[in-house]
Amino acid sequence: MRTGQPIRPVVIAHRGASGYLPEHTLPGKALAYTMGADYLEQDVVATRDNELVVLHDIHLDRVTNVAARFAGRHRDDGRYYVRDFSLDEIRSLQVNDRKNADGSSVYPGRFEADGEVFRVHTFAEELAFIEDLQESGGRPIGIYPEIKRPAWHQKEGVDITTDFLAILRQYNYASHDDPVYVQCFDASELLRIRKDLDCEMKLIQLIAENSWGESATNCDELRSTRGLQRLARTVDGIGPWVQRLYRVRARDGRIQDSGLVSRAHAAGLAVHPYTFRQDDLPPGFESFRELLKFVIDELSVDGLFTDFPDLVKSHLSDQSCGD
Ligand code: CA
Repeated sequence: MRTGQPIRPVVIAHRGASGYLPEHTLPGKALAYTMGADYLEQDVVATRDNELVVLHDIHLDRVTNVAARFAGRHRDDGRYYVRDFSLDEIRSLQVNDRKNADGSSVYPGRFEADGEVFRVHTFAEELAFIEDLQESGGRPIGIYPEIKRPAWHQKEGVDITTDFLAILRQYNYASHDDPVYVQCFDASELLRIRKDLDCEMKLIQLIAENSWGESATNCDELRSTRGLQRLARTVDGIGPWVQRLYRVRARDGRIQDSGLVSRAHAAGLAVHPYTFRQDDLPPGFESFRELLKFVIDELSVDGLFTDFPDLVKSHLSDQSCGD
């Protein structure tokens, strides 16, 4: 609920402190915890033996050595699918920084980890790890799990959503007040979660671009005023792409508010845009600080996904010291 209080956006560690350590590794999550993130993100996909693991893609090839270890186990499109490997096989892989199709690093300069140190883990293992982190660290932290490609998983013979919700329940995430946001790009799945599966947890509708082919959801429709009003009956907030929050004026390069945040707020929705990266700024911004000032001070976003939770937290604490 929005109040007259100063806006203090929640800081969501996007796949962990992934600006510093490989995405979705437990060390990356621990680092984000110590950096003061408010939420740790998990992306969840299913293995061949219906175990849920924490990985961003339905593929393994961009963040592990699967192609070297299991050569030939790809599908016709050349990709290695999580769904085609058992949990034991996936546990034997080494995790590295995110690579492009040609093997180069997506974010040059980040920790590459082309070695033996990092492994894939299950969703349940990460939730247990977070319980332990909170105990040893003495500070609560929320979780921000995403159901990846539910319709695709359904075609592959697994109802990933019911397994996902069952694991959350085991770790005592169930009510609207629990420190959890459940996120998904698929609008019909979020509707099912709320209405058919009686989920009370806070829900976030991620909004992609139709051209990305994330789901059958019409993203343009979701961003319309009517679409936002309809969404507000089901979900608590939206997770839009940062580049949908503004336009760069061609004449002089000035940044102009697109109005999406205020229209979402008017519909009663929180706004948690993605993804804020110091080493990959969106068009129109010269520095990370300038970007943060715009979305926090001018747009009043309620949260943001970032690979650099430490930088966002320090920006916020500078502001509260009377900057
Ligand atoms: Ca995600």
